[in-house]
Amino acid sequence: MDALRSYGFTREQLFSRELSVADVVVECLARLHAREDLNAFLEVFDAEALDAARGIDEKIRAGRAGPLAGMTVAVKDNICVRGHRTTCASRMLENYISPYHATAVERLIAADAIIIGKTNLDEFAMGSSSERSIFGPVLHPRDPSRVPGGSSGGSAVAVATGMVHAALGSDTGGSIRQPASFCGVAGLKPTYGRVSRYGLVAFAPSCDQIGPLAGNVEDLARVLRVISGRDPRDATSADVPVPDFPLSPPDNVEGLRVGIAEEYFPSILSTEIGDAVMNAANVLAEAGASVHQVSLPHAEYAVPAYYCISMADTSSNLARFDGVEYGFRRSADTYQEMVMRSRTDGFGEEVKRRIMIGTYILSQGFDQDYYRKARQVRRLVAKDFEEAFEKVDVIITPTTPTTAFKLGDRTGDPVDMFLADVFTVGGNLAGIPAISVPCGADARGLPIGLQIFAPAFDETTLLKTAGFLEKRLG
Ligand code: GLN
Repeated sequence: MDALRSYGFTREQLFSRELSVADVVVECLARLHAREDLNAFLEVFDAEALDAARGIDEKIRAGRAGPLAGMTVAVKDNICVRGHRTTCASRMLENYISPYHATAVERLIAADAIIIGKTNLDEFAMGSSSERSIFGPVLHPRDPSRVPGGSSGGSAVAVATGMVHAALGSDTGGSIRQPASFCGVAGLKPTYGRVSRYGLVAFAPSCDQIGPLAGNVEDLARVLRVISGRDPRDATSADVPVPDFPLSPPDNVEGLRVGIAEEYFPSILSTEIGDAVMNAANVLAEAGASVHQVSLPHAEYAVPAYYCISMADTSSNLARFDGVEYGFRRSADTYQEMVMRSRTDGFGEEVKRRIMIGTYILSQGFDQDYYRKARQVRRLVAKDFEEAFEKVDVIITPTTPTTAFKLGDRTGDPVDMFLADVFTVGGNLAGIPAISVPCGADARGLPIGLQIFAPAFDETTLLKTAGFLEKRLG
């Protein structure tokens, strides 16, 4: 399938010059501006995108266009694009203009993708609903009384509405997969270290990964091919070869061993979601896969461990926002008071709550009880996956315990919001890759997402399995 076709045009049309890249960009921008009510974008690069498109049209004419020529991409606003604001949807960085590109952005541009603009998110990517942005919430495209998921909600909406072909998101505990699931698009969290984090504003660096969201699995693979690989500017980026990730699904899944973990089908899970995932398992079984029960016994401790680790990380990472070098600044008579007032007024409620809890967790006397224990649990969660992957090639689960919820439903209770991540955080703790693809809809027509986990650096099997399901489930 030609990935661009789902947006009404094909790659052949571009290369036969029936259509120009500029036409494509004009169309994307028109769709984007027609749905400004959804609040998906914080900045749109109208003129710059058109200029870039004309340049790429010339390259196509000259026969030297890059692999992403004709593809439009949106970038979550916690990832740097040179010369543009990177606000993290926070007052703290409201006026921060990045002097450099994130590596992932630099590689997209080098491959001739067109960056359309920056997308809205929960402040500093902390959230699961995209409601915690100082620029207001992102709305679900099917039902504006609902959330699109988060924290990469703007990126998911931009893709779901055809404003762009693909988008970059970041996933620390589920922020790519959960909004992809809520909005009915595909989203992939790569293996930790697969994609450089250079230029991604740190939230919890031992969990953070940049990854793509797209309208289909083929486009995910195209973007992943380009953004992956060792980057000397990120010491945690892995020196592992980048395979040619598959662009088309296999004809069958003969021999694939699929795991189902009962811990991911708790009794509170709606039957609609459980059935949609089991239906996908049956589709795989009919096409030659074998389905096995596996156990991930520490799954229930993943959420508390994730929040301990990520908040501890946050408290130290966000210490850099002190009003001195960059970011929001309040003036005061003393240095202490200046820092205090800048941070008090610059950060939002959720961010401050996490900094305070994280500081407490790391305080002398408590670190053994919380941070150390959380790291031990993290190891056990990773070990559960390692053991399961001795028996199976992939594990399939629901991406989320519910479909898109109503705006305001969970903002009153942070723990309730955290539970939106029960199925996704394990992948971040273990550092393994995971993908979410649509696998059905609930009675209201809201999308249901299927999550697939694979062993570290095996995105190829993820993409093959997801591509196969996409083809079969339609
Ligand atoms: N919802 C999770 C949190 O609030 C994950 C966020 C993310 O992946 N960036 O921490």
